[in-house]
Amino acid sequence: MSSILPIIDAGLPTGIVEPFASRVAREITTISRNNLTTLQINLGKLCNQTCTHCHVEAGPTKTAENMTEETANRICDLADQCDSIRSIDLTGGAPELNPNFRKLVQHFREKSLNVIDRCNLTILSEAGQEDLAEFLASHQVEVVASLPCYLEDNVDTQRGSGVFERSISGLKKLNDLGYGKNNGELRLNLVFNPTGPALPPNQQTLEKDYKRELKKRYGIEFNRLYAITNIPIKRYATYLKKRGKLTDYLKMLEAAFNPLAAGEVMCREMLSISWEGHVFDCDFNQMLGMPATGKQPPTVWNIKSFTDFLNQRIAVADHCYGCTAGAGSSCGGAVT
Ligand code: SF4
Ligand code: SF4
Repeated sequence: MSSILPIIDAGLPTGIVEPFASRVAREITTISRNNLTTLQINLGKLCNQTCTHCHVEAGPTKTAENMTEETANRICDLADQCDSIRSIDLTGGAPELNPNFRKLVQHFREKSLNVIDRCNLTILSEAGQEDLAEFLASHQVEVVASLPCYLEDNVDTQRGSGVFERSISGLKKLNDLGYGKNNGELRLNLVFNPTGPALPPNQQTLEKDYKRELKKRYGIEFNRLYAITNIPIKRYATYLKKRGKLTDYLKMLEAAFNPLAAGEVMCREMLSISWEGHVFDCDFNQMLGMPATGKQPPTVWNIKSFTDFLNQRIAVADHCYGCTAGAGSSCGGAVT
């Protein structure tokens, strides 16, 4: 395997930072997939919210960009043949709005895999989803939910007016069903991402603050807090650019490059599948249209097995500085 990584254009301004690929080649040689434990399935761009930081550019009008049953079935077949996969991470948009969501949950829970629902919380009170929380609990689905602050104004600024109140109501509903308790049977993890162009604070300290404040103010409990960095792509990159902050943000991420975090990035153990069935190294690369190495572009239809992607080099570009800055960042929070 070559130690020189290709330099890929992720649509960010060039010449601002050292290309991520050459920084990695200089500091840790290469990033490749040494295991495949997690399959992240993006069911589409349909969402009931339109958050400012959304890297998926999801929203209520994206009805056509939704995974078909045929694609969902093919993913199940391929995943069933791959013994190393332990966790299925369902994301979107609001993944629950896809008609195949519950079928996928049932399929993978019957195989005793851990199933994660990346839930925006307000979906729990959408018309037609009144039984969603009970469904998740009865299948012991792990819920990972965004709550960028325990203060109403900050959440509503980032995620839309009224989102905080509905999120709190969603969390209470989940708590009432047994989510977020210490017995660990129904896991409820929250996601923090900064509202401004800064790195997240220390994850453990922030988790303590969240636990204290959410309990005191609303009686809410949860298991873990994941502090994640906003990746400068799509809607968030546009948001920064409009405010003249994109260049500074990129420089800040580069200055905080952490080789230890680069050694633990999530793409080393996961694959991400788009609603159309294309295969990517992660959800961010998916949104940029940067396919995983292999047949170009690899899809669930032209590959024989997910294990084809083991020991393969990851397609990286400058947005990857978001995963390697400070304590590092992944869909499961800090990596170091
Ligand atoms: S960040 Fe999540 S909840 Fe917000 S618009 Fe994007 S997919 Fe929907
Ligand atoms: S954005 Fe992060 S997870 Fe995706 S390829 Fe880059 S380093 Fe890996």
